[in-house]
Amino acid sequence: MNKIVFFNIPAHGHTNPTIPVVKALVKSGCEVTYFSFEMFREKIESAGAFFVGCDVFLPQANQDELDKKAGKDFSALIKMVTDTTINMENEVLNQINAISPDCIVSDSVCFWGKLFARKLNILYISSTTTFAFNMYSAKMMKPGIKEIFRMFLGMPRISHSIRRLNKLGYEINSFVDIIQNDNNTNTIVYTSKLFQPMSDTFSDRFAFVGPSLFEPLNNCRKKKSRKLIYISLGTVLNQNDKFYQQCIEALKDSNFDVIMSVGEKTDLKQLETLQENFKIQGRVNQIEVLKDTDCFLTHSGMNSVSESLYWGVPMVLFPQHSEQGIVASQTEKLGAGIRLKRSDPNDIRDAVNQIINQQTYRENAEKIGKSFRTAGGSDAACNFILSKIIT
Ligand code: UDP
Repeated sequence: MNKIVFFNIPAHGHTNPTIPVVKALVKSGCEVTYFSFEMFREKIESAGAFFVGCDVFLPQANQDELDKKAGKDFSALIKMVTDTTINMENEVLNQINAISPDCIVSDSVCFWGKLFARKLNILYISSTTTFAFNMYSAKMMKPGIKEIFRMFLGMPRISHSIRRLNKLGYEINSFVDIIQNDNNTNTIVYTSKLFQPMSDTFSDRFAFVGPSLFEPLNNCRKKKSRKLIYISLGTVLNQNDKFYQQCIEALKDSNFDVIMSVGEKTDLKQLETLQENFKIQGRVNQIEVLKDTDCFLTHSGMNSVSESLYWGVPMVLFPQHSEQGIVASQTEKLGAGIRLKRSDPNDIRDAVNQIINQQTYRENAEKIGKSFRTAGGSDAACNFILSKIIT
């Protein structure tokens, strides 16, 4: 029986796509152990894997603070990951040795999985829920002034983190070593070649399997008389009352129904509206909502955009940082969305109307959606992993 170990960071967007892959591996007879965090225990166990909780290894900081920093400040993310790796080292390396896995599958930003695989000389496969980055596609990232400034200020902290890991025997020259996969690393990417920027610069070690999604049980679109607009800023940087108020202002007198997911930490009372066309919730079943949506106003998180395209739903794109910026640019370039420059109510209203009134946005979204459906999804990811173990 093949034994596979998964590692991930505590983030929905990075964990969700791996769950159907775990299910497929278990179905094909593998034993899967998943090192993750309590909030994902149920999902992981119901996919048939053994769950190992890593919450105790996270640096003791306020989770909101970590979310804010990890989303925008690269050196803070590197420090957090370094601290976690060092906290985990002894106990987790012993656990991996006891399991003796055939392979470690680790999220591309979950550096500890990659470092442990290197240290123990175990086959490593990267699970990449963003676009794949190499020296060509990384150039498309256009960090804002604030991000560049934070990066500049954070350089000493990054060098210090590298030195701490070097002392423990991890050979790392620069953090590019860890965040960027070279053309020799086996890498699963949850998008299609059509949607991946500069896809022809990647070797055949990269498997572009398309989004790995749970399809809703009923995947027929509802018949409805009014168009549905869905709004969400994702699960991390989603506390933005001003933006939500602007959306209400923009669409309150429209002929559209609007569902707005504002995040579980946002105070719903602050956003109470008498507008009957608005339904505001902390969290929704996004995939279920998207299948009936006509236009999605999104922060351009990779998963949200992929889910939207999967259902052929065109978007208004409102990225919050450079990684989301590249997803937004690619969507706009392929004609499936419009990028919002400012969140002024007039701009929001105009962009939504343009998406609804011009059929080409929907057609282009459907074309990318088709490339996703034919890319193989979780079964293709499962077969890729098994093929690497066997050869
Ligand atoms: N999501 C959800 N319900 C919500 C908001 C988000 O199920 O109300 C899911 C969404 O389907 C997606 C993930 O959370 O799979 C968000 O991932 P993404 O990469 O888009 O953004 P992040 O939250 O990482 O910024």
